[in-house]
Amino acid sequence: KSKETTGSGYHFFSESMDVRTFENIKLENALYKALEKDELVLLYQPQINYKTNQLEGVEALVRWNHPEHGMIPPEKFIPIAEETGLIVPIGEWVLTEACKQIKAWHNQGFQLKSVSVNLSVLQFEQNNLFSIVKNVLEKVKLSPEYLHLELTENLIVKNTELTLKTMKQLNGLGINLAIDDFGTGYSSLGYLKKLPISTLKIDKTFVQEMTEDEAAITNTIITLAHNLNLEVIAEGVETLEQVEFLSSQNCYLMQGYFFSKPLTADHLLKKYFPYKSI
Ligand code: C2E
Ligand code: MG
Ligand code: MG
Ligand code: MG
Repeated sequence: KSKETTGSGYHFFSESMDVRTFENIKLENALYKALEKDELVLLYQPQINYKTNQLEGVEALVRWNHPEHGMIPPEKFIPIAEETGLIVPIGEWVLTEACKQIKAWHNQGFQLKSVSVNLSVLQFEQNNLFSIVKNVLEKVKLSPEYLHLELTENLIVKNTELTLKTMKQLNGLGINLAIDDFGTGYSSLGYLKKLPISTLKIDKTFVQEMTEDEAAITNTIITLAHNLNLEVIAEGVETLEQVEFLSSQNCYLMQGYFFSKPLTADHLLKKYFPYKSI
């Protein structure tokens, strides 16, 4: 539609941009209420050790179950949550929920080794992230070794005193810190030795594009991790070919649709603990 047919004289922007902005404002308002209306849900994606064929852990991934639009994926609302600052309470909800879930699994006799939670840079920039995490663990009575936190390279590029201090505190408590989407950011490699990081997650773009160049990058990241005594996990693993390539490079921790899509807590139990959970 052109501005003539809409009958409005206020179209300074293209119509599509206008609509998108309007949609965003509506989403933003609804997102404010989503938390109290209990519309956020967590799915859990298995992380597999291909060598032992065992479930190593799960990553908690948030969804917004919108009453009209259905399940909204994180790419649609995490950016809005970050712009508005809502990611801080949302992130705290995710953390609490994920810790409660693994504790519940443990109580039911399912010994999952870890739950990984994604943290936004904005959460790190609050000066109370450490005490929030510590309080959640205490409230849920979960031992810190079961919690893994995923950070992005943006956080490391910024490299402020506060984020460094928080990372050290979290690690000091016994929480495993991983760098998510490793290889896509602009950070230098020097930090890998200085920061208390235990795991690199190879970004799915390198895992999936099996050209010679991408395979070389994947191989380099795996070697780097091994040389620095870091764990390495590949994400976005979709095909047997990728699985075989990764294991030929001695990378056995894998996450991706080849093994499983993110699942509800119930489906995860049925899939990985079938006879116990009947
Ligand atoms: P991420 O942390 O890198 O999570 C991996 C994403 O890859 C997930 O998308 C997952 O569903 C998807 N994925 C897993 N295996 C495959 C595969 O084999 N093929 C393909 N094509 N994709 C695969 P999802 O759940 O849509 O999440 C997208 C991003 O949103 C996450 O990327 C993370 O950065 C962010 N996110 C999700 N939950 C949270 C959260 O609670 N807090 C924050 N701050 N960010 C979150
Ligand atoms: Mg992640
Ligand atoms: Mg651990
Ligand atoms: Mg990732």
